[in-house]
Amino acid sequence: MLLFTPGPTPVPEAVRTAMAGPTIHHRTPEFEAIFKEARERLRRLFGMDECVVLASSGTGAMEACVTNLAARKVLTVNAGKFGERFGKIAQAFALETVELKYGWDTPADVEDVKAALADDPDIDAFCIQVSESAGGLRHPVEEIAAAIKEINPEIMVIADGITAVGVEPIDTSNIDALIAGSQKALMLPPGMAMIGLSDAAVEKIGGGRGYYFNLSSEIAKQRKNTTAYTAPTTLIIGLNKVLEMIEEEGYESFYRKTRARALATRAALEAIGCVLYPKTPALSMSTVYDEEADAVRSVLKSEFGVNIAGGQDHLKGRLFRINQMGLIPVHESAWVVNAVEWAYDRLDRRAYDGLASKVFNEVYYANEKR
Ligand SMILES: *Cc1c(COP(=O)(O)O)cnc(C)c1O
Repeated sequence: MLLFTPGPTPVPEAVRTAMAGPTIHHRTPEFEAIFKEARERLRRLFGMDECVVLASSGTGAMEACVTNLAARKVLTVNAGKFGERFGKIAQAFALETVELKYGWDTPADVEDVKAALADDPDIDAFCIQVSESAGGLRHPVEEIAAAIKEINPEIMVIADGITAVGVEPIDTSNIDALIAGSQKALMLPPGMAMIGLSDAAVEKIGGGRGYYFNLSSEIAKQRKNTTAYTAPTTLIIGLNKVLEMIEEEGYESFYRKTRARALATRAALEAIGCVLYPKTPALSMSTVYDEEADAVRSVLKSEFGVNIAGGQDHLKGRLFRINQMGLIPVHESAWVVNAVEWAYDRLDRRAYDGLASKVFNEVYYANEKR
């Protein structure tokens, strides 16, 4: 079965092999050397001054950023399940919140953010997804972050890049915290989150807040290549390996291929009559609005060995989402759009004529070249 859900994503064989060694103790020079290398690679991935890893799923890093970087009032963007989650986290810690709500297909508007900040000088942190996975949407995060810093550089910009870091280059000049998760673009098993931090964020964290998710104690320890509590050693070994593989390929080539696969998939799907859901599609996944989404997914699974994701909440049964994150062999992505075309044939929607494959290959190879 080809796993084509936008998280978890398949773990490359070389990474699985790297993680298959005997367990090593985390308070040893042997592990610290691996962690040091992984941290250097991680800072290059984020393009940021500092980074921490946490033994938690991505939501733990979202919580850590909110609790450590927001003191008074949080402005959140809710254009899907993950944006909604930032607001719920802030409320769980009794922080005041202001929410900008959008349809799941609609990107946040920089003017709305500016107006919200003008209305409320108490806001000291802003939370948004780079890529909102609920609808496969790309928010204009870099533009919004720049506008916020122009208004007040003290406002902390927290960006959830769980389906964006490792997908495309992100301009972090105005971002204070950028979150990544192991099981999405980084092709690792679930269970680890990573945060890139600006110098301003490290300063604002100060003594930190909370206990397990206290970023101050983690920064102090991780700067010494160890962790405050038992490190997820196996996942860190895997992280070091996967980042080594990406660096060997080269970030430019890695991002170019991901983009080419995403554009080719979109074009192929549109060619056979699929309706793309988001107004500004993310590169991390290809999201289609389809009233028969569950029937399409079921044909894909039973006849073509492909597992793709559906929609959630009000879009349950109405969306299908195809992953583009990771080192995906291009023939696998080509197989997926071909399978969608066959599924449309099986469901008597459109007679199969190989158009999806044809368009996929044309667009992929036009974009994959330098
Ligand atoms: C998957 C995901 C998360 C985190 O989910 P966890 O289940 O806690 O790892 C957060 N934000 C986005 C955009 C995601 O896609």
